[in-house]
Amino acid sequence: MSAQPTVALVGRPNVGKSTLFNRLVGKKLALVDDTPGVTRDRRVGNGRLGDLTFQVIDTAGLEEADPDSLAGRMRAQTETAIRDADAILFLYDARAGITPLDKHFSDMIRRMDREVILVANKAEGRGVEPGLMEAYELGLGEAIAVSAEHGEGMADLYDALREALEGRLGFAEPESEEAVVNLDVDEEGNLVRPQEQRPLRVAVTGRPNAGKSTLINRMIGEDRLLTGPEAGITRDSISVDWVWRDREVKLFDTAGLRRKARVQEKLEKLSVADALRAIKFAEVVVVLLDATIPFEKQDLHIVDLIVREGRALVIGLNKWDLVEDRAAKLRELREECERLLPQVRGVELVTLSGLNGQGIDKLMQAVARAYDVWNTRISTGRLNRWLTGLIEHHPPPAVAGRRLKIRYITQAKTRPPMFVIFGSRPEAMPESYIRYLANGLRQTFDMPGTPIRVQMRSGG
Ligand code: GDP
Ligand code: GDP
Repeated sequence: MSAQPTVALVGRPNVGKSTLFNRLVGKKLALVDDTPGVTRDRRVGNGRLGDLTFQVIDTAGLEEADPDSLAGRMRAQTETAIRDADAILFLYDARAGITPLDKHFSDMIRRMDREVILVANKAEGRGVEPGLMEAYELGLGEAIAVSAEHGEGMADLYDALREALEGRLGFAEPESEEAVVNLDVDEEGNLVRPQEQRPLRVAVTGRPNAGKSTLINRMIGEDRLLTGPEAGITRDSISVDWVWRDREVKLFDTAGLRRKARVQEKLEKLSVADALRAIKFAEVVVVLLDATIPFEKQDLHIVDLIVREGRALVIGLNKWDLVEDRAAKLRELREECERLLPQVRGVELVTLSGLNGQGIDKLMQAVARAYDVWNTRISTGRLNRWLTGLIEHHPPPAVAGRRLKIRYITQAKTRPPMFVIFGSRPEAMPESYIRYLANGLRQTFDMPGTPIRVQMRSGG
């Protein structure tokens, strides 16, 4: 293993490779010109981003290429650079969107065993969303949006690059999470201004009388919310700011699924809307169950809503103070959970008592873990190595005499993790096989309890 990893910048002309090269190297070494194919040499420089140091190769230098041979020359250039690289930054122009030439090169790069980070450049300001949405078409994962010119998105690029280089070189630094999350860098690659960390948005949902208000009161240590023994006290949804272990949390309590009066039908609808509002607001949803009457129909309905909305999820088994044989009860509830909620296999069950405060810290630790899992990002390289092994072991079935083909996989989104698998006849792929893939992803990449999306697309 060389001391300095190598990072190659690749992409069609004019996407901003030289500009990014300048930024990483920190000097105005590379000549920047907006005429495609302006005369340049291939450059190598010492790059730096935060505490990462590496060699950068800029693959520009397609001087005076005539359009017919452009693709061929790019291929040769790119192949050389890639051969030497530990990680590849594949740039495209988020303003221009994906062009056929971008696709041509992404196809080529995907076949090489390298860590590839897709970078959507020129993403400053407005109007680039369409260009970012198209990114998955390249099959190289979710794009990191940056502006090489204005120095935006460098913290995200740092995170992705660090992960890619660790994966490639097999070193893992004992870096604290915070240091990474709160990072920003200036033009010279120095760490500056910690990014403001937004509060973690948590909703507490559950049937009437599960103990939501009691729990939230206990968390924030004030009787700010009204609690009462009778189901159906009318209240509006309310959010409270709270700090848990130095982490800002916005708690959202909901009167959702609360039966308010006798006009049952009308209020059932209203309450679902309430629960949905809380769920949409939240990043992590705590489903609070009354452990003495768990997994009622309404509880399962709430979980379905959360999965449909794609939120992270933790189950709180409340009123644990009332449970007698706790070990046996917990075992029973775990089994029931696996059986009733297979779509969130591995979801954490936390026993607690909002009344006496026991278990609240455990609950919040589970919330923080669920949030991390929900944010999981897996590199295209790792995904495809996994997929190759899996297909060998258990290939997709044949439909109407022809075997369905799967070509490659990429993560299109996080929060929740969303994967796109490209292959032949996606519409013919049986649900059971897609579920098999989703479960495999969950297990292999350690994503317990989070909703996982898998989509089939034609291509490859
Ligand atoms: P290369 O051919 O891929 O090396 O691209 P260059 O680095 O030479 O950049 C091509 C053009 O895009 C130049 O006019 C740059 O100023 C411009 N450019 C580079 N990065 C950005 C960016 O982040 N935002 C915008 N708006 N323009 C950029
Ligand atoms: P909400 O409708 O979900 O907001 O539930 P509340 O917080 O109003 O609680 C409903 C009832 O359950 C009240 O009588 C609470 O005192 C009681 N309760 C809430 N949490 C606990 C708990 O952890 N243990 C016990 N024993 N009772 C609880």
